[in-house]
Order: sequence, then structure tokens, then C-alpha cells
Amino acid sequence: MTAAQAFRMVIGDRLVDAASGQTFDVVEPHAGTTVAHVPQGGAVDVDRAVEAAQRAFDGDWSRMAASERGRLMLRFAQVVRDHEEELAQLESRQIGKPISGARWEVAQVAKVLEFYAGGTTKIHGSTIPVTRPGFDFTLREPIGVVGLIVPWNFPIMMAAWKIGPALAAGNTAILKPASYSPLTALRLGELALEAGLPAGVLNVITGPGPVVGGGLAAHAGIGKIAFTGETTTGQEIMRTAAGTIKKVSLELGGKSPNIVFADADLEKMASTSPYAVFDNCGQDCCARSRILVERSVHEQVVELFAKATQAVKVGDPADPATEVGPLVSFRQRARVEEYVASGLSEGASLVTGGVRPSDPSLANGAYLMPAVFDGMRTEMRISREEIFGPVVGIIPFDTEEEALRLANDSPYGLSGSIWSRDMGKAMRAVKALRSGVISVNCNNSVHVEAPFGGYKQSGIGRELGMEALELYTEVKNVFVDIS
Ligand code: NAP
Repeated sequence: MTAAQAFRMVIGDRLVDAASGQTFDVVEPHAGTTVAHVPQGGAVDVDRAVEAAQRAFDGDWSRMAASERGRLMLRFAQVVRDHEEELAQLESRQIGKPISGARWEVAQVAKVLEFYAGGTTKIHGSTIPVTRPGFDFTLREPIGVVGLIVPWNFPIMMAAWKIGPALAAGNTAILKPASYSPLTALRLGELALEAGLPAGVLNVITGPGPVVGGGLAAHAGIGKIAFTGETTTGQEIMRTAAGTIKKVSLELGGKSPNIVFADADLEKMASTSPYAVFDNCGQDCCARSRILVERSVHEQVVELFAKATQAVKVGDPADPATEVGPLVSFRQRARVEEYVASGLSEGASLVTGGVRPSDPSLANGAYLMPAVFDGMRTEMRISREEIFGPVVGIIPFDTEEEALRLANDSPYGLSGSIWSRDMGKAMRAVKALRSGVISVNCNNSVHVEAPFGGYKQSGIGRELGMEALELYTEVKNVFVDIS
């Protein structure tokens, strides 16, 4: 993609401009050029999308045989696979994600759709032995029209995590991508039509969060909002959705701990953990941004971790060798730089990074070298707040009890890693951590088949696995009197 391209929204079976005719620009962060013009939707477009989705819901989609819905979703997955490289290039370009990461992300989309295509025929209720003579059973039914609001860090994957279970359960959907990253979502809407999904089953509308996302959250025609984004936006959505008592599921921020006991495989930990925080330039809700390390190996871990961080390849997202690209925007970089300054002013010591790269070929982009702080304390802003950038802080601990207390000392509870060769100790930590997604002796426990989501202020509900599917259904209880 060279010249700025014009994209359109997907409502019903049509590609449309905003009713107002207005557009906004998508600016890529590698060199700061405008790559696309996108419709700036408003309240009228929200209404149009809700009408199209309701028509589709009242039509075949919610009533067709589950296996047929599954077949259509498999076809959708195949069309996505056929366009994987195109989607990956678009994803990489719009947010500066390294192309290797973008390819991985797009591959997840087809996997998610395939998993939930299989899920269509596994949604069932139960038969309940009640005291009166008769049969009591439950039915799981779709909610209706659902609004899916997603962020810019994993734009197409976050969309798929919601589209998959929403459609499998028989709902129809309106997807609202983040304004930094609308392009892959819009293309996904087009591909859904190409795959033969009935008109209005998946609509994609763009525009400012408070207007379009807020419009979905307020709309009486929508039964559920599934949201991924910042905790403060999630709070706003809950408040708005309360007006029509919508179901709400939220995947919010994180400040995840990486607990390193002295008996761990330190080489493995230090060589893999930089990716657990710097991947996607640290713009990852699961980023293991607080390293808690047993004091006896503290110096060794700082040294190993700094060395591994300095080896991370920062560069042009289009280069397949690049591991870390720019931040999503110049605004986001300024925000992260402000955190680096606050870490220094609060007394943490910067071991490496935290500055703009010296490579002149990156001078026009929103780049920042991955930063490692030592001497972080829990009361510091860099320890408490989600930075959403390539910054990690190290805190030493003396006892198992202290490690777990520090790990849980956060308003968030999304994910966490535990490193130890002592499985008893590791399992005690698994039980003690107040987080929804935990990995032992590695940094990743996200699987399409398994539930994902947070405790505390990291969210409500779960994505992925069969748990997510249930959250897109209503339960109906039926009693048949046979007396
Ligand atoms: P954000 O600012 O909260 O935006 C997320 C989405 O909400 C965007 O589509 C945004 O649209 C929209 N939005 C903004 N204001 C709204 C409002 N008042 N009502 C309804 N919708 C509104 O989050 P972000 O900066 O895109 O994403 C980063 C955040 O997502 C981080 O906090 C990260 O931890 C979190 N995240 C969580 C998970 C998880 O699974 N737990 C996964 C990934 C990311 P505009 O872009 O048009 O403003």
C-alpha cells in the first residue's frame, strides 16, 4: 500500500461512507505518513448498523441449523487464510507491528473462527431433577445484536476473539475497531461477505470511541457489549450500558508480575522474558512488566535480562528480522517517555534503554528503545500504572510470602509468570496469585481453547474457550408438567 487508500464501513451487505460524509486519517507510526482515509461514523451510522444486524438476527442466522452456521464460519476462516498475507501487511502498516508478529496474529484469526465453528454444535442446556413431577430443562439461546469494541494493540485478533463466539452462538454483531487501527477490521467485514455470511451478520463501523462505541453501549437495540481496552473506558461503558441493563464483558488493563525464584532456570527466564514485556513494543495487556526476583539471584538476573534486552532487534516493522517496532503513535511514545522520566525522578535506576534509537533510519518514527529499570518500588508510578510501552521494572524479594504479597499488590489481576524448579512452590504461587491467566516456567498461557481474562480491575467475563461462548448466550429454563 503506497498512496493513502479510502476504506468504507460494512453495514448489511454494503460498503458505505459515513452518513455525514466525513472521514479521518490513519497515520502509520514508522514514518508518520497517512496510509488511509476512513469513514468517521456517527449516531446515524450506529442506528443503520443496529437495524441491519437486527434484520439479520430476525432472518436466518439465529434460526439456521447450528451445523450450517458452523459451515459458514469455516468458510469465513478459509477466506481469511486465503488473505493472510494481505491482512498481515495491513496490520503491520497501520500500527507499526513487526511483520512477523502481524503474520502470527492474523493466523490466530482463522484458528479462532475454526474453533468456534466447531463450537456451534456444542452449545447445549441441561436437564435438571426438580421436585415436582415433570421435566425441567434449559435452552441456551443467542442474546441478539451484540456490540464488539476492540483496541489497537492486537486489532484483528481481538476482533476475532469476539466475533467467533458471538456468531457461533447465533448473535449478529457490530464491530467497532480502534481509530488507530480500523483497516484490518474493515477488511475482515468485507471478507465475511465474500465468504457468504448473510448480510448484516457482521457489520463494521468506524469513528470516535465516545460517539460510535458510546453509541453502541447506549443503544436500546443492543443486548450485550463485549469490550477490550483501558480500564477507564471500561468503567465508562459500564455506566452507559447500565441505562439499558445490557450484558457487559470487559477485558481491561494489566500490570502483570513475573516471579523469579532463585532455583529457576535463569538462563531460560532471562532469554524469553524480554519478549514477554517488549513484544508488540510493550503494548500488550499481558506484558510481564514487574519482575519480582529473589534477592540471592537479583544481580545475576539484572545482568542477564539487560543483556537479552540489548539483543532485541528494534527496527522497521516491514523487516522480517525486526522484533520490536515503533509505538502505535507519537502521542503514545510521549506518554511512555513521561513514565521513564517519572521512574527516574522517583529513584529507580535505568539499566538500559528508555531513549530514542540512534539509528537515523528510525528517526521519523515513534520508536523508543526497550527500557529496564532496577530498584523499582511498589509505590512508584512505573510499578502501579499500566505503561503500555517497552518498560519493565525489577524488584527484589526475600521470601516466598513477600513475593506473593508484592505480586498481588496491584489493582489489576490479568496474568503472571512463575519461575521455579520446585513444583510445590510454583503451585503454591499459582493458588495465591489473584490473576486470571498464569504461566509456569514460560510466559504464555493464552490458547484459543482455554479461557482468558482478568481478576479485579482487569475485567469481567472471559474470552476464548467454551467459557466465552456461554457469555454470548441467554439461558431459558423450561418446565413441562407431567402430573
Ligand atoms: P481504549 O482507549 O479504551 O479504546 C478501546 C476501544 O474503545 C477503541 O475502539 C476506542 O475507540 C473505544 N472507545 C474509546 N472511548 C470510548 C467510549 N467512551 N465508549 C465506548 N468506546 C470507547 O483502549 P486502547 O488504548 O485502544 O487499548 C489499550 C488498552 O487495552 C490497554 O489498557 C490494554 O491493557 C487493554 N487491552 C486489554 C486486553 C485484555 O484482554 N485484557 C487485551 C488488549 C488490550 P477509539 O479508538 O476511536 O477511541
